[in-house]
Amino acid sequence: MKLKSLTPGVDTQASQHVAGEAVAEDITGTTCHFCGLTAGLHGMRISQSISCVLCGVAQSLHRTMIDEEVRLIWLPEMSQPALNVLVRQIHIDLQALGESVFCDDNPSHPGGMRTALYTAQRILRERSDAIVEKLGSSRASDLADALTVLSSRHVDVQNLAGGGLRAFPTGRFFVGGLNVYDEIVASWRGLPADAKATESPNPLKKVA
Ligand SMILES: [Zn+2]
Repeated sequence: MKLKSLTPGVDTQASQHVAGEAVAEDITGTTCHFCGLTAGLHGMRISQSISCVLCGVAQSLHRTMIDEEVRLIWLPEMSQPALNVLVRQIHIDLQALGESVFCDDNPSHPGGMRTALYTAQRILRERSDAIVEKLGSSRASDLADALTVLSSRHVDVQNLAGGGLRAFPTGRFFVGGLNVYDEIVASWRGLPADAKATESPNPLKKVA
């Protein structure tokens, strides 16, 4: 399957559910057309293509909780789908270690893979500074609001996206006002829907 290109923006053709309400469809187990990984829980449809939530939110900057879900960053070295694949793996690994996946949290105790994963996240998150310099804000909602007037100010959003504008997933995704992202990560890990998302595979905990 040839993957589709993806840049941050507002997909006006997206169906109603992308705005933040019940998004769970019978597409669990199918492949995201943008990053090529399994769509998982709460998959979306973007431009009539199946999407995982990370690729979906990048094209859904009009979502009501978008500023909790993504931050705008400047990352010309990496495409939006490649960023999403990387962030997904960071979140899968953090959850498997029993850690929070939220980008502003710190590891429960430093060292080893925990430090590496959180450091990788922090480096990506800090790329929002460059976006503030360019746009005056790293809030996705500000960009969504501005999309309708940017053209009149001679700012080409496609050039911004081509230059390096990316939506960095924070590790949260809201449905009906509730953060369900941990369940989504659990679905990517292949855990059953009723499994505790924070369940630690650490055998030492079972012994204790
Ligand atoms: Zn995807």
